Amino acid sequence: MSTTPQYDAIVIGAGIAGMYQLYRLRELGLSVRVFEDGGDVGGTWYWNRYPGARFDSESYTYGYSWSKELLQEWNWKEHFSPQPDNMEYLSFVADKFDLRKDITFNARVSKATFDEAANCWEIETEKGERARARFLITAVGVLSATQMPRIPGVDKFKGISFHTSRWPKDEKGFGGKDIGMKGKRVGVIGTGATGVQLIQEAAKVAGQLTVFQLAPEFCAPLRNAPITDDEMAHIKATYPEIFKKCQESSAGFMHNFVMKSVFEVSDEEREAFFEYLYNRPGFEKWLGNFVDTMIDPKANALITEFMARKIRGRVNDPALAEKLIPKNHGFGMRRVPMDTNYYEVYNQDNVTLVDLRETPIETITEKGVKTSDKEHELDILIYATGFDAVTGSFTRIDISGVGGKKLTDKWADGPVTYLGMGGHDFPNFLTLVGPHNGATFCNIPRCIEQNVEWVSDLMKYMRDKKLTRIEPTIEAEN
Ligand code: NAP
Repeated sequence: MSTTPQYDAIVIGAGIAGMYQLYRLRELGLSVRVFEDGGDVGGTWYWNRYPGARFDSESYTYGYSWSKELLQEWNWKEHFSPQPDNMEYLSFVADKFDLRKDITFNARVSKATFDEAANCWEIETEKGERARARFLITAVGVLSATQMPRIPGVDKFKGISFHTSRWPKDEKGFGGKDIGMKGKRVGVIGTGATGVQLIQEAAKVAGQLTVFQLAPEFCAPLRNAPITDDEMAHIKATYPEIFKKCQESSAGFMHNFVMKSVFEVSDEEREAFFEYLYNRPGFEKWLGNFVDTMIDPKANALITEFMARKIRGRVNDPALAEKLIPKNHGFGMRRVPMDTNYYEVYNQDNVTLVDLRETPIETITEKGVKTSDKEHELDILIYATGFDAVTGSFTRIDISGVGGKKLTDKWADGPVTYLGMGGHDFPNFLTLVGPHNGATFCNIPRCIEQNVEWVSDLMKYMRDKKLTRIEPTIEAEN
């Protein structure tokens, strides 16, 4: 150890991962500074405050599990909690554990450089602030680098326009603000999980809502409901079982596949089970189905046909229903957006679907969206076009390791990591929910806790053994 850095660890990001990492390292008596781009804690939930944004994991499987006191103090109001409540929860956690005092807000880290002589990292923010630490821990999220579409004229539109994850704050700073959509001509580009949540809400208030759809997803009903006092008391009493169930499931949810083939039951039994699942809340219809629906194309065809039938039953116009049914993938083969009357909005007079496979967008104009057949004039244009997922939030920071090696070069042909937790040539660099880590395809907070605890154990071990540098070997990485 040639120099003593300012901090033991710098954490980038104060979302669910960064907040917990800060707490754990502080518990170990280590000094930590967190740098956060946003104006408050919350990460994904801070930024994604569009109307309709909510969990599609059961709320009580999404919150932190590590504080019994917190579990008993916090009351979830809905089975699938909306964004303003989620921010209230994360703010409550930040207050309770006094986290904000170690977080610098409105500080976007633009550069991180490993200092080989000192075995430490130096970061620089966009505003020029610098800090040094033994460890650099990224908690930058998998879906935080916004992706605007590469359509000509995006900067030309004269009305109100932004990406869903840059929705303006409401008075409390929490979200859900309708930005004056009432009675207006609103356009939404993108129909992934975000687009679906937003479209349902926009259809309630817009004068005219135009949805620009490239390829549809298979959506399934969320079936949200308020949590009664009795239910909340029961949830509090059974938290250990709830988390055990998540821990033992394939992806951290409280659902498990039925270890049986669709072909082991009669047609009537299968139909009855699919119907039962369709009426259940959340992802159960996806992750609690017969196991072969997700691995055997013939079994998947049965649930796909069932789901297509449901869409046909919910959309009045048969031709429109066909446009909303995916033809390029089976149910559950892509992320299933959870809906609340999504398909029904297309029965409303104020909602129009533009199928971009028939009439592609040519350009964004001053007045709206020009497709191959006409110009759609709009007052508000929302981009629900997703993210530069997983690696985008890393590659947007200039990260240099041993010998000045750039992370972007190391990952030029796709990410190369050890367990998704770091990589060769990048000593003391730990990536929570990093590329390749199972946490990216999980009920994320459940896997975040595992990642944070692994990193904390590693740092404790190094401190106890008086070690100052750790780096995966190239063999381990390969
Ligand atoms: P997404 O799934 O990537 O969807 C982006 C949408 O924009 C797609 O429909 C895409 O069409 C469309 N699109 C992209 N470029 C376009 C272009 N140039 N022209 C027209 N359409 C274009 O993004 P997302 O909906 O934001 O969801 C991302 C992830 O966030 C989800 O998978 C989920 O994991 C997470 N999420 C979670 C929640 C929750 O937990 N409650 C809510 C929302 C999102 P194509 O697919 O045809 O390319």
